[in-house]
Amino acid sequence: MQRVLVLDKSKNPLMPCHPARAHQLLKQGKAAVFRQYPFTIILKERDGGDVQPVTIKVDPGSKTTGIPMVADFRAGKRVIWAGKLTHRGQQIRDRLLSHRQIRRGRRVRKTRYRLARFLNRRRVGSKLAPSLQSRVENTLTWVGRLSRWSPINSISMELVRFDMQLMENAEISGVEYQQGELAGYEVREYLLEKWGRECAYCHAADRPLEIEHITPKSRGGSNRVSNLTVACHDCNQRKGSQTATEFGHANIQQQAKQPLKDAAAVNATRWALWRRMDTLGLPLEVGTGGRTKFNRVKQDYPKAHWIDAACVGESGEQIYTSLNHAPLQMKTTGHQSRQMCRVDKYGFPRTSAKQGRVHFGFQTGDIVRAMVTKGVKRGMYVGRVSVRASGFFNITTPTGTIQGISYRYFTPIHKSDGYLYEKGEALSPATTRVAVPPRQVQ
Ligand SMILES: [Zn+2]
Repeated sequence: MQRVLVLDKSKNPLMPCHPARAHQLLKQGKAAVFRQYPFTIILKERDGGDVQPVTIKVDPGSKTTGIPMVADFRAGKRVIWAGKLTHRGQQIRDRLLSHRQIRRGRRVRKTRYRLARFLNRRRVGSKLAPSLQSRVENTLTWVGRLSRWSPINSISMELVRFDMQLMENAEISGVEYQQGELAGYEVREYLLEKWGRECAYCHAADRPLEIEHITPKSRGGSNRVSNLTVACHDCNQRKGSQTATEFGHANIQQQAKQPLKDAAAVNATRWALWRRMDTLGLPLEVGTGGRTKFNRVKQDYPKAHWIDAACVGESGEQIYTSLNHAPLQMKTTGHQSRQMCRVDKYGFPRTSAKQGRVHFGFQTGDIVRAMVTKGVKRGMYVGRVSVRASGFFNITTPTGTIQGISYRYFTPIHKSDGYLYEKGEALSPATTRVAVPPRQVQ
């Protein structure tokens, strides 16, 4: 169950409470709604109170980042709130590309007489690409926001995919293992990344992959990572005691010698995020991807971004969570469009220039409720508003867009803050009340 975030009357965070308790406080008039997403209440009377340590855990991904909060109760560590942050890296890349093309077109059409600009860019130090930078900033925004509204006293994040040190002395016991030691997980993650998560021989991706010796052990092959690849069961069996070259895949024997070059690129964003997190002044724990998976599999949890994040690092060894948590989905939308007016297919202006972003107190992106009392559009709608200077707005609800509703019918629910919110799907139906019991980690 997602807990409700609670602030005291001076806006200091208190321990998040059960939704039923929040409902009671609101009904008794002891609290008011402070924020809709994530749902936060503010107490009217109380100032200060006891809090338990809460850790914010982060599993930075390229498309989505899982952000759960884990409280350290006397009975054990428990997930009290979970969020799933969706990035817009691809969109940023596309927008910058179109921005650049428009600018080039304009220069060619209108300023051909000017001398070409040349060596006019200044860059200090190394810099991430804008699409990568936005992932770092989005994650930091949410770490910052959540630590304002809940009593967070430490951060834990996944820093790298695999621990090269741990892999050096890895002991591979049995080719078919799935549940080996921690070092085994590091090796497995590394190999999956290196061989593109598919069978190296037949390129099948939709079946379980086994770790396979390129030069078999029976022929003097070693357990070193450079002698390993991943293969499906069938290929592994058919290859038997042949080397990859004898099996008709000389290219694999070649590729095996090369280390994984783009591991650095994969991890670049995470290191940048780590450097920024380190300046927040909270204790920061880091873990590897291999360890995350190890912890999750040992505790028998299904795969989800927020569960992976909860299992990050040493503190993720033993975590309680119920599977009917419906994580809050936070989709990055950005704040406004740079384009001044819409254009037709030839690039000529189709509308007049924008006249400011706020109209009648509303802004595009606000989440609103519209109670339309008359006409053909009569009804109640909740969704995201697109404002028009005319005062007739569009509202986008999960079922579709309704156009041209007067601003008079709207009530704001949540001011635009660069994200679109949705209640996520729970992994098991809400009727299941039984939390997964903690399992002993061997
Ligand atoms: Zn295969």
